[in-house]
Amino acid sequence: AIEIAGLYKRFGDNEVLKGIDLTVKAGQVVCVIGPSGSGKSTLLRCVNRLEEPTSGQIRVEGIDILDPEIDLDKVRARIGMVFQSFNLFPHLTVLRNLTISQRRVLGRSKGEAEEIARANLERVGLSDKIDAYPAHLSGGQQQRAAIARSLSMSPDMMLFDEPTSALDPELVGDVLDVMRALADSGMTMMVVTHEMGFAREVGDELVFMDDGMIVEEGNPRDVLANPRHDRTRAFLAKVL
Ligand code: ATP
Ligand code: MG
Repeated sequence: AIEIAGLYKRFGDNEVLKGIDLTVKAGQVVCVIGPSGSGKSTLLRCVNRLEEPTSGQIRVEGIDILDPEIDLDKVRARIGMVFQSFNLFPHLTVLRNLTISQRRVLGRSKGEAEEIARANLERVGLSDKIDAYPAHLSGGQQQRAAIARSLSMSPDMMLFDEPTSALDPELVGDVLDVMRALADSGMTMMVVTHEMGFAREVGDELVFMDDGMIVEEGNPRDVLANPRHDRTRAFLAKVL
C-alpha cells in the first residue's frame, strides 16, 4: 500500500502540493486526472523520491520512505515508474536495458537477470525485440519495453505518468492492454492519465486534482458520471 498524508511540496514560493492525503491499497489501481500544472507529476515524483516533499508523510508497505537514512536505490527498485517519454538507454539493447539495474542495484547474476528480463518481455509482447536497440522500436514498443524494464526490478507497485500521451493514437491500445493485464495480475498502481476509458474500466478509484489539492475522489464510474464539484465538472466537460 501507499499511504500519503499531509503532503506539501513547494518550488520556491510556488506551492504545488497543498496537503495531499491519499491511500492506494495493495492490489488497487488509482487513476489521477486533473488539469495541466495541477501537481499530478509532482505527486508521483514525491512517491518515489524524485522530488523531496516540503512536508508530510509517505509510507510504502509501511516503510517511511522520507526517512533520510533510507537507501533510495532500494526504494526506487520497489516502486517502478514509467514516464511519458520512454527513457530507455539508447546505447543498450532491449535485453541490456532490462538487466543492467537488476545487476547493479539488486545484485542479480547475469543468468537470473536475463531470465527475468525474458519473462517480462514476453509479458509485454516484445520477445522478438530482445536484441534490438531502442531507436529501432516504435514508440509503443519502447514504452512496453520501459514497462518490462520496471517490472524486471520486481517492484511492489508501479507509478505511471501519462504513459500513452506521447504515442501515436494507433499505438496507445497496446500499452493500455499491457497495463490492464498488469492491473489484473494484482499490481498496485498509481496512474496519471487522460485515458478516461482506462480509468473507468481498470481504475478502482479516480482522483481529480486541481491546484495542488484533491478536489474529488471515488469510484471512477461515479465520478465520471456524476461529478460533485464544479471544477471536476468543468474539467470533464473539456476532456470527455
Ligand atoms: P501536466 O498535466 O502538464 O503534466 P502536472 O499536473 O503533472 O501537469 P506538475 O508537473 O506536477 O503538473 O507541475 C505542477 C507545478 O509545479 C507547475 O506549476 C510546475 O511549473 C511546477 N514545477 C514542477 N516541477 C518543478 C520544478 N522542478 N521546479 C520548479 N517548478 C516545478
Ligand atoms: Mg505531469
